[in-house]
Amino acid sequence: MRLTCPACGAQHADDFESIEAGAVGKMHCEGGEGDHVFWFILCECLACGEETTFTWTQVPGPTDLSDLSCSECGVPFHEADREAEDEGTPRHLL
Ligand SMILES: [Zn+2]
Ligand SMILES: [Zn+2]
Repeated sequence: MRLTCPACGAQHADDFESIEAGAVGKMHCEGGEGDHVFWFILCECLACGEETTFTWTQVPGPTDLSDLSCSECGVPFHEADREAEDEGTPRHLL
């Protein structure tokens, strides 16, 4: 699993064992024009099981997070959350 910096395109091979799915993380990057940071989230799709990462150059707001959808099957994560809650297994992005 790799993270691509949204600011400079640098690739970050990361230790995802320390990253919690569904939680926004912050990554330090030294590519491009100097030190900067970006934010990312790893989401696991409840519909197809694929993991998708999203990155931002600024702290993602509630709108950014609610707009996320699976790169494999296109199911919005917040809708999958709702379906999961209907089935009695609550899951939240944050
Ligand atoms: Zn960068
Ligand atoms: Zn999916």
